[in-house]
Amino acid sequence: MKNNLLQSVIDTLSTNSNLQGNEALETVLRNTSLIDLSELIKVDTNFTRDLKFIHKNIRFSIDIQECVLIRQVRGIRWEYKVIISNHKFKAEENWIVIPSQEHSNIETLLSIKMELNNVSPFLNHQNNSVIYQLLDIENAHFENFRYERGGVLFAPSKENKYSLSDKNYLSNIASIISFCVEKDTSSQFLSGVYRNLKSTAKRAQQNIEQHCVGSIPVAYLNENSGLPNQAGFLRLIGHLIDSGETDFSVVVLSIDKFSYFCNLFDAYTKERFLAETIDRISSVIVNNTTLSHIGASDLAFVLLEHDSISVKQKILEVLNSFSEDLQVDDVKVRFEISVGISEYPSCGNNADTLQKMANIALFKASQKTNDRLVIYTQGMEKELKLHLELSRSIQQAIERDELEVYFQPITLVGDKGKVHYYEALVRWIHPQQGIISPDLFIEIAEASGEIIPLGYWITQRVCHHIHRKKLPANICVSINLSPIQIRETKLASNMANILQRYSIAPNRITFEITETAAMLDPTLTRLRFSELKNIGFKLAVDDFGTGYSSLSYLLNFSFEYIKIDKSFIDHSSINDGYAVIASSMIKLAHKLNMIVICEGIETAQQYSMVTDWGADMIQGYLISKPMPIEHFYPD
Ligand code: C2E
Ligand code: CA
Ligand code: CA
Repeated sequence: MKNNLLQSVIDTLSTNSNLQGNEALETVLRNTSLIDLSELIKVDTNFTRDLKFIHKNIRFSIDIQECVLIRQVRGIRWEYKVIISNHKFKAEENWIVIPSQEHSNIETLLSIKMELNNVSPFLNHQNNSVIYQLLDIENAHFENFRYERGGVLFAPSKENKYSLSDKNYLSNIASIISFCVEKDTSSQFLSGVYRNLKSTAKRAQQNIEQHCVGSIPVAYLNENSGLPNQAGFLRLIGHLIDSGETDFSVVVLSIDKFSYFCNLFDAYTKERFLAETIDRISSVIVNNTTLSHIGASDLAFVLLEHDSISVKQKILEVLNSFSEDLQVDDVKVRFEISVGISEYPSCGNNADTLQKMANIALFKASQKTNDRLVIYTQGMEKELKLHLELSRSIQQAIERDELEVYFQPITLVGDKGKVHYYEALVRWIHPQQGIISPDLFIEIAEASGEIIPLGYWITQRVCHHIHRKKLPANICVSINLSPIQIRETKLASNMANILQRYSIAPNRITFEITETAAMLDPTLTRLRFSELKNIGFKLAVDDFGTGYSSLSYLLNFSFEYIKIDKSFIDHSSINDGYAVIASSMIKLAHKLNMIVICEGIETAQQYSMVTDWGADMIQGYLISKPMPIEHFYPD
């Protein structure tokens, strides 16, 4: 229902973006978040763009009726996916499991492929099985244009015979796919295809079975569970890497309080609880022979799923399987599980590193109160070290003069040179590590509670600069507020006291809070905002378009400014639908007396785009990066 309504809005907006007199439209815009609206126009823009590019530049036409990728998963399961059907690319097809009775056909296919690489591209193979029909295998041809990148199985376009031009087409497709992927790794579909291409060929040549528990010497097995132990698990990862597995995820899982709990029971009960735990996990990761028992309460396994989303999905299933109590005889227990994940090859290229990264992610997961599933991301190790360092005391960093507030100008549209506003952005200038991004340490300071004194210090530092540099009275500064600061009962009065010390009027300071942070506890946010407003501070909603709030809802918080997030600007440059929505939203925001700032403007094109939309102010590298105050007001 909601979608139908939205769709009609999009249709109307696409033909006529004038809001005047269209009340129904306005109501929908008022009550729908930018994110919901954008969902509707979200096609895989990279993919479409790539295809357009291909058509334009390579004079390529999809003359192939059917193109199917096949892959082997864990040496036990085969899957296929149609990527071209009826001459059209199919972007969203899922992998489909090929029934096991067809496996021998695939083995034959692979041997044919090997032959093909050496002999002739034509073959005459009679077989009526489902998979052969599906793949139109009678004249199957494995192109080998980029053999080292993977084999693709294609069906020919004409009379079930391959011609030389077909071969060219096939080569084209293979090169286009790799070309696009090399050119634009963010193109998810194409990179998926690319990865599958690679793994299909590699796996075909290896017998992954050798990684199975059956072949692992006893020294590598845990004597309690019979699963691979720590050394066995590392060996297993090593095997996967050596055998050319192209990407996989290492999952480390810790059962909280397991050891503590088990000490209360006899060895037999302990063993059965452990067996029960392992059963629950195995029931989710069916046929996965990598499950290992790497520590008293730690288990681990490898997932060959290719993308983070399906890995996450699988792990959530594992976690859900523990939502019910475990029972042995009449003893019932509920275990909390934390999970850390690292991905090969992005997190490391050897077993030790991969497990270490998964353990770092596990540490982070175990500190969370819910959602205890963390995938290692770049910088997490550094973050962990920083965490340890920072949690010792951020106060010390302030005392050592390592923190500073930088200023980034916000200018009026139409007058790029005229600054009315600056956003204050904190920096940690570390003597060894250089400038550390606030994205890294604000979160840590929030977790430790240090954000409260830090927040006051930042405001005080802003006031210090305004005062010392005698910034003209019409220049205002906006300061970011974290949701933790909203919980501070005396936030408004403490901020007011700081300003008073420097004789700065509160209406020169705007507090920015993200849409999502404001929504964490809307009642409390409203209360705190009314206190800040009573003193005379102004308010801005930050990163608008990344959360699910509508303009109507935001009116509850009486924001004066609305900052449209960079991601929305970036999308609009590619997809017209976003631009139509954004410009209509800005018109509406004006009707509601809000001032609109567009963030992250990097190019002249983006600048003229948001000018067309009717934005009031812009902020971004096009004008200036955040800089020390001296850059704008030299001593
Ligand atoms: P934010 O509030 O959304 O700040 C804008 C971020 O976008 C800043 O990153 C800024 O340097 C960056 N930016 C501005 N223009 C452009 C552009 O044209 N292109 C690109 N790519 N980026 C641009 P920064 O300084 O690294 O801050 C990151 C985040 O850390 C901020 O996001 C804010 O959430 C937080 N933060 C920064 N300073 C403070 C602070 O003093 N207090 C609190 N609570 N959070 C802060
Ligand atoms: Ca901000
Ligand atoms: Ca922002």
